[in-house]
Amino acid sequence: MSTPPPLREMIAEYGLRADKSFGQHFLLDLNLTGKIASLCGDVSGMTVIEVGPGPGGLTRPLLELAPERLIAVEMDGRFIPALNATGGFYETPLKIIEGDALKLDEAALTGGGPVVIASNLPYNVGTPLLIKWLKADPLFWQRLVLMFQKEVAERVVASAGSKSYGRLAILTAAVASARIVLKAPARAFTPPPKVDSAVVVIDPLPAAQRFTDLAALEVVTESAFGQRRKTLRKSLGMAAGRANTITETLLVAAGIDPGARAETIPPEGFFALARAWRDARG
Ligand code: SAM
Repeated sequence: MSTPPPLREMIAEYGLRADKSFGQHFLLDLNLTGKIASLCGDVSGMTVIEVGPGPGGLTRPLLELAPERLIAVEMDGRFIPALNATGGFYETPLKIIEGDALKLDEAALTGGGPVVIASNLPYNVGTPLLIKWLKADPLFWQRLVLMFQKEVAERVVASAGSKSYGRLAILTAAVASARIVLKAPARAFTPPPKVDSAVVVIDPLPAAQRFTDLAALEVVTESAFGQRRKTLRKSLGMAAGRANTITETLLVAAGIDPGARAETIPPEGFFALARAWRDARG
């Protein structure tokens, strides 16, 4: 392994300016990207997928971790030559895919072997990408290490009763455990975004503990939190456009007080409600 030139030099050499339409805010502090990469844990023998490598600030320490191979998925073709050059400095094989991570079939790409995903996510696609990975069947990843804007990170890890608690925390809790492990102020990025960020580490639950009907869970949580200040009797009844007695029956079948508000019900309550809703549909 030899050392690639400093990131800023490479950015200048390849003329890589941040493009706001791709949500580009770069991490150029290799101490910070090194810390983020280390959160992947022991990746020997694994494939690491990095989404949105940009100029490669996180790519470098990921290559140093020496996984089986690193797959970098980048939508903006301007970065590909610089990423190819970066890969040439390391022994870990770097495969670069130019494309949209939302459309990627990760399991097919990695052939079913163990996978860790790491990303400094573009803000506009962070939530849909996370939901895509939570819904993956079979769950193909061993760990997700994801930088989100701070408010989104708080919504991923929130518990019942907190103001950030809602659909995202419940979908996450259905299949995984999540924690915020690192905060990054806006000034850590070039150019700085308007908001602070945080890294969330997400590990899958053992298969037997997962609630896997995320489609049903999305339906009930969307209805329940669509009117978060109303009682569940009201919010679910309005969303379903059905008589309140049917809504009430579902809530009682799930062991939930129809007079409670969505934000007070822990994820397990919503799993039971999703089951009752599915069973009632037959
Ligand atoms: N990882 C780099 C860093 O930390 O400096 C860049 C982070 S920047 C916030 C997000 C990167 O994701 C950009 O390079 C952008 O082009 C890329 N990107 C945006 N949407 C994408 C998508 N749907 N699929 C793949 N890459 C995407």
